[in-house]
Amino acid sequence: MINEAELREALCEVGRRVWQKNFIASNDGNFSFRIAENAVLCTPTMISKGFMRPEDMVVVDLQGNQIGGARKATSEIKIHLFIYQRRADVYSVVHVHPPHATAFAVTRLELPKCVLPEIELFLGEIPLAPYATTGTWEFAHSIAPWVENHDAFLLTNHGAVTVGLDPFDAYYKMETLDQYCRILLLAAQAGDWNRIDHAGMKELLRVKEKLGVPDPRGADFCATATVKSGRPKPIPNRFVPHPGPITDTPKLSGSSPFDTAKAHASPLPAMNDDARMIIDEVLRRLAQRR
Ligand SMILES: [Zn+2]
Repeated sequence: MINEAELREALCEVGRRVWQKNFIASNDGNFSFRIAENAVLCTPTMISKGFMRPEDMVVVDLQGNQIGGARKATSEIKIHLFIYQRRADVYSVVHVHPPHATAFAVTRLELPKCVLPEIELFLGEIPLAPYATTGTWEFAHSIAPWVENHDAFLLTNHGAVTVGLDPFDAYYKMETLDQYCRILLLAAQAGDWNRIDHAGMKELLRVKEKLGVPDPRGADFCATATVKSGRPKPIPNRFVPHPGPITDTPKLSGSSPFDTAKAHASPLPAMNDDARMIIDEVLRRLAQRR
C-alpha cells in the first residue's frame, strides 16, 4: 500500500543518490515535492542529504511558512516555491551543487547547444541565472526570465536546479546535466567540442516532436547560436533585483497530471483525499521506475 511514508523515503533516496554522486558536500542541497496546492514537503537545513530519515522532512506553504516537521526548513526553499508558483506542471525540485555543472556556473560560460542528442531531447536549453545571495527572494527570482519554459538551470557561482513530475524525474535531469558538463570538460581537454549540423538537429527535433515534446526553438537555433565550436564566451550578469516575496499565488492548472484544485493547505498528516491521490499517483510512477 502506497503511503506518505514512502514519499518521504523517496526524498531520502534522492538524498543518498546525490551524495553518492558527489553532487553535494556537507549539508548542501535541498529537494522538495508539492503535496498540495499550498503545501510542499521538503528536506530540512543542517543535515547531510545522504543520511536523512523520512521523519526529518518538513512541510512549508507556498509563502515559505513552515507548517509541519520538527526540523527547520532551508532558506533556499524560496527558489522551489517560486518554481511551484509559476509552474503548474512541476511537482518536484532538486537543487544541488554538482561539480561539473557548477564549474560552468562559476566560469559563467554559455553552455554550448546542439552537441549531445540526449540534452536536446530531454533538457533543451539550459540557461545561466545571474548571481544572487543564497536564501533570498532575489536568489529565487534569479531564474524568472526562464522559469516558465525550462527544466534545468545553472545558478551563477552557486550550482544547479532541475524540476520534474516527481523527485526522481528532477534528479535524473540533474544527472543528465552534470554528465553533459563533464563530457564538455573532457572534450575540451581531449581537443574540442563540435556540434550536430542543421540537418541532424532538424531530424532530432522531429524525434522530439514524436515523443510529444515539441521544441519551440526550431532547428535554426543551432545555426544562429553564438558558439559553433570551441570555447564558449562568458555571459554577462543580467540580474535585476526583485522587490520582495511573491504575493500572488496563481491556482494550479487543471491540465496538470495531478488535479490538486481542491487540495488542502493544512499541516500533515491531516491529508484529504485529493492530496492522498496525488501521492498515490506519484508513488505509482516511482514504483514503475524502479
Ligand atoms: Zn545551494
